[in-house]
Amino acid sequence: MIEIDNVHKSFGELEVIKGVSLQVNKGEVVSIIGGSGSGKSTLLMCINGLESIKSGSIRVDGTEVHAKGTDINKLRQKLGMVFQQWNSFPHLTALENVALAPRIVKGKSKGEAREIAAHQLQHVGLGEKLNAFPSALSGGQQQRLAIARALAMEPEYMLFDEATSALDPELVGEVLDTMRLLAEEGMTMICVTHEMGFAREVSDRVAFFHQGIMEEIRPPQELFGSPRSEHLQRFLAKVK
Ligand code: ADP
Ligand code: MG
Repeated sequence: MIEIDNVHKSFGELEVIKGVSLQVNKGEVVSIIGGSGSGKSTLLMCINGLESIKSGSIRVDGTEVHAKGTDINKLRQKLGMVFQQWNSFPHLTALENVALAPRIVKGKSKGEAREIAAHQLQHVGLGEKLNAFPSALSGGQQQRLAIARALAMEPEYMLFDEATSALDPELVGEVLDTMRLLAEEGMTMICVTHEMGFAREVSDRVAFFHQGIMEEIRPPQELFGSPRSEHLQRFLAKVK
């Protein structure tokens, strides 16, 4: 379980997260929507300890992310992260790219790591591309490679930050399909997304961020069907 309790976060004078609380249960899919600069990416960075927080707390399976004694590298293994773009190693094949972290971070043998990598590449629909170099992959395939790479660490949670935003429109669907598959398999996911259709269909709950405040969080039918926050109403009118 991920427990975010009254988190405040500032960059210098600028407060970008203003008291956000959110609990994500095992098996749940929560999408985060909201305008640019509302603090969505920063929250994800705080969850995996890449950013500090000013006050409040974030716990992952009971371990406080920002506590002094926390082994953050160990904790991060539980949290797979997929960004807009991932710079894979161009001189390594898809298989080698995915096998790298299990080998280096988890200490798996070369054979084991390659087995895990092959399995996860098949999982995301890249079973035919094990020996392809990243430059030979489309943008959508590269994002699926990034997902496979995260999954190869056997995370308990997956955090997606606009995983489809940098893609040509015709490549968005295949990445969303992969994310949908993970959701159906029961993966616990937090997805920052601009894909309202995905948020509506796949999420258990959708959270709307506005200027560092989580203004609304409800099941998608309710949130999209009868948005309460005025900011959310305006946001939805713009993105539809
Ligand atoms: P979103 O992902 O919702 O677009 P971000 O979390 O990236 O928003 O950013 C929230 C606010 O924090 C923005 O005003 C942004 O400019 C600011 N910000 C983000 N990262 C940094 C940083 N490393 N240093 C200073 N300001 C930052
Ligand atoms: Mg962002």
